[in-house]
Amino acid sequence: MTADDGIRVLGIEGTAWAASAAVYDSTTGSVDVETEAYVPESGGLHPREAAEHMATHLPTVVETVLERTRGERGSPAGDDGEEPDDSAAIDAVAFSRGPGLGPCLRLAGTSARALAQRLDVPLVGVNHMVAHLEVGRHFSGFEDPVCLNASGANAHVLGYRDGRYRVLGETMDTGVGNAIDKFTRHVGWSHPGGPKVERAAREGAYVDLPYVVKGMDFSFSGIMSAAKQSYDNGTPVEDVCCGLQETIFAMLTEVSERALSLSGSTELVLGGGVGQNDRLREMLASMCDQRGADFFAPEARFLRDNAGMIAVLGAKMYAAGETLPV
Ligand code: ATP
Repeated sequence: MTADDGIRVLGIEGTAWAASAAVYDSTTGSVDVETEAYVPESGGLHPREAAEHMATHLPTVVETVLERTRGERGSPAGDDGEEPDDSAAIDAVAFSRGPGLGPCLRLAGTSARALAQRLDVPLVGVNHMVAHLEVGRHFSGFEDPVCLNASGANAHVLGYRDGRYRVLGETMDTGVGNAIDKFTRHVGWSHPGGPKVERAAREGAYVDLPYVVKGMDFSFSGIMSAAKQSYDNGTPVEDVCCGLQETIFAMLTEVSERALSLSGSTELVLGGGVGQNDRLREMLASMCDQRGADFFAPEARFLRDNAGMIAVLGAKMYAAGETLPV
């Protein structure tokens, strides 16, 4: 069996801030996603609050996508007062098995197990980081790309060859989105900080900040401290945001280019929530253009955390027989 053989997978994402469910239909290629975002009232993500958000919203997002799937099949829920039978509509349940916040992961795992049991279908445990990359590779149609994951808690450059991902470079300290969010917390902006930095940077002038690439790895903690210091010393926040974006994204672009050069690949795929930033995509596209490589970034809804990426990778794993006992 392959994932092209008419598989419908329900995916559940629950690693941190996104309580999300999706149904991926491999026949039509459609991905129906429903997400409830947790936005902390102050500071960064609080694990206990994030878990409470999961507990409240996972059942409703799952029910919403199931209901839309029933609608598509012309069998509206509860017509005759009976429990709707979804077991014919869904072939497998996939869930984000990690990495993520422990209390959230337990809830996502328990929800997925209960649902797989209720529908009497196999269960698939998906790695959240591989899903961030695989969804882009899936939509790009690329064979052996270099993949840049620029997400909240992570930052890696990987090469895909012979069905395997290999880490070529990664952050030596904090994730790229988390680094940006730490700066915005310092200046008193609410979470998430990335979109606010992007907006402010458009009004700013470039300021120098430390540029740290060591071989294939990069580091963000020094630049964060320098950005906070620069702001405290009176540099306009828009200018710090501009310097921050230009420096961090140039580091990611340099390592991605080196990975393309070393691997001989002519394809680059972007993944992760920071990939929603127009300036990052512009820099990567321009670098690829200059060396004759193809660049692909999926739609924004598949860059940030979402259950669509879990369902897409879940379908491939299910087709390969990679299931878990409930
Ligand atoms: P991970 O996926 O690594 O576990 P996560 O769940 O926090 O981490 P994502 O959902 O992929 O990560 O991305 C969230 C991050 O993306 C946040 O740090 C947020 O500030 C950042 N972000 C969102 N939009 C933008 C933007 N336009 N520019 C830069 N960063 C952005």
